[in-house]
Amino acid sequence: GDPLPRPPQPRVFTVANQKGGVGKTTTTVNLAVALAVHGLNVLVIDLDPQGNASTALGAEHGSGTPSSYELILGDIEPAEAIQRATASENLHVVPATIDLAGAEIELVMLEGREHKLKQVLSSPQIQRRGFDYIFIDCPPSLGLLTLNAMVAATEVLIPIQCEYYALEGVGQLLNNIELVRAHLNPRLSISTILLTMYDARTKLAEQVANEVRGHFGEVVLRTVIPRSVKVSEAPGYGMSVIEYDAGSRGAMSYLDAGREIANRVRDTVRSSRG
Ligand code: ADP
Ligand code: MG
Repeated sequence: GDPLPRPPQPRVFTVANQKGGVGKTTTTVNLAVALAVHGLNVLVIDLDPQGNASTALGAEHGSGTPSSYELILGDIEPAEAIQRATASENLHVVPATIDLAGAEIELVMLEGREHKLKQVLSSPQIQRRGFDYIFIDCPPSLGLLTLNAMVAATEVLIPIQCEYYALEGVGQLLNNIELVRAHLNPRLSISTILLTMYDARTKLAEQVANEVRGHFGEVVLRTVIPRSVKVSEAPGYGMSVIEYDAGSRGAMSYLDAGREIANRVRDTVRSSRG
């Protein structure tokens, strides 16, 4: 297909929703792959001690592997923690190990604790790599790790599962984002909402999708991710669904979502120039 436009500035996405199991990690991994296979230079930072994004990207992440844990605490240089993902030579990952589980508490004692990840991303070693997109996969909580991600990012991407209670907790997330904007990172915006695990056979999925679109309008991507067994099988093979079965509906929808996200910059740039 058409090559995707390179953003004029690196776009840093926090993928957040304090509910677990809504598709944060799946979305992080597959959007990152979707953009990388189109030639864009992409970095994934795994900030969830579970390390599921690291697994799906084929990164080593046993305890003791240089990871987001040492990086956020300032104990290592970024280059030591960055691994190449298996999906593409343009795709890199800072893995998470189980050691990260202690970071929420260790961070509390540090000065500037909510700016640690931002410092890392501003470092020359990261800047020199020329990443077009950075995705930060957050744990299912609104603790210090997620806060670090929101301070480091320019955009929040919220995956919303097309299920009962889809919007449960989203109000709290929005409040937190507002607080971050007011006090820590005025550049942050909720740029993207992605509807995930859409089951076209149910009336409920359609109702949830309509409700979310009614509530959030334009920021909701037109592309919807279907519920698909292929999507859930892929991580078991250490793969994104795009590598596992490129022709599947799940893979196609993540490729479409990636294209939509990338083209939105072009749209914004165009409209802001009139
Ligand atoms: P989170 O990171 O928000 O906890 P995950 O991305 O890990 O959520 O997804 C939760 C579970 O749902 C995982 O087992 C994942 O494989 C599965 N899953 C995610 N998206 C889909 C989908 N579109 N279709 C089917 N299963 C999915
Ligand atoms: Mg996850």
